[in-house]
Amino acid sequence: MSVKCSKCEKSAVYLRRYTNERLCVSCLLECTLDRVRRTINKYDMLKRHDRIAVAISGGKDSAALLDILVRIEDAYSESEILPFTIDEGIMGYRDEALKAAKKLVGLHGLDLHIWSFNELFGKTLDEIVKNRSDTSFGACSYCGVFRRKAMNDAAIALDADVVATGHIMDDEAQTILMNIMRGDTRRITRGNRFRANPVDGFIPRIKPLMGISQRDVIAYTHYMHLPYHDVPCPYAEEAYRSEVRIFLNKMEYRHPGTFLAILSSGDVISKSLLTRPSDSTFRKCDKCGSPTPRNVCKACSLLEEL
Ligand SMILES: [Zn+2]
Ligand SMILES: [Zn+2]
Repeated sequence: MSVKCSKCEKSAVYLRRYTNERLCVSCLLECTLDRVRRTINKYDMLKRHDRIAVAISGGKDSAALLDILVRIEDAYSESEILPFTIDEGIMGYRDEALKAAKKLVGLHGLDLHIWSFNELFGKTLDEIVKNRSDTSFGACSYCGVFRRKAMNDAAIALDADVVATGHIMDDEAQTILMNIMRGDTRRITRGNRFRANPVDGFIPRIKPLMGISQRDVIAYTHYMHLPYHDVPCPYAEEAYRSEVRIFLNKMEYRHPGTFLAILSSGDVISKSLLTRPSDSTFRKCDKCGSPTPRNVCKACSLLEEL
């Protein structure tokens, strides 16, 4: 016998544990759009005439992000959705994902803009990692610094007002907890600062999926038949994050709602910190002009070392 949807008479296909709701396919779609809409409104992520650059990896999180944003923004004909991909240049990693990304974007009648580390920095990530002198600075750290810059440069080239990324509830909870555990509390304000405190030269980044979980995304991409290709990056994930991820997944499983509770703690912490004056001021990088608290931005100083 099938289990009935919590919202209508149809058969449920998905149990969302943190709200204890059983959802049919159409209610899964409606509830997901509704949660994302509420997140966007709660943090004032989008404005009516925005040009929205959407970061597409080819994986399921960004597949769900694009599909959901297209459905939500259809109601606002003045906004524009600009999907783009950053190709880090990792041998054999991005190729299949790029195919999936192009297929996904094509389904929505959009074009995919592609930028590579090689075009932007003159080096692929593989070359950067091979040539680094400081091996304590891991591949993910290099990739993180260069991706952030690449995404900002791409958004500027697209004349975008905002960059949307596919970060989900699980990622945000991990990041908040990691910042607390490392004593780096002020960093929490960067996670959801969004458009409230703009820095000249940085295109604000938003995370419309931060209110939905990895399980939600898996169900959504499956039942909406979205093309995607998830491959683990050949460079090992930062060890500290994977420990936190494993611990948090166990906690969320045993105590559904743990992720959401960490997110709301993050909001409280960041609200109270944002009422205090900021301790960093931004200037323009001497080399590339990107905003940075230093004379030369992190990306340019790493490139110099290589
Ligand atoms: Zn239903
Ligand atoms: Zn620079």
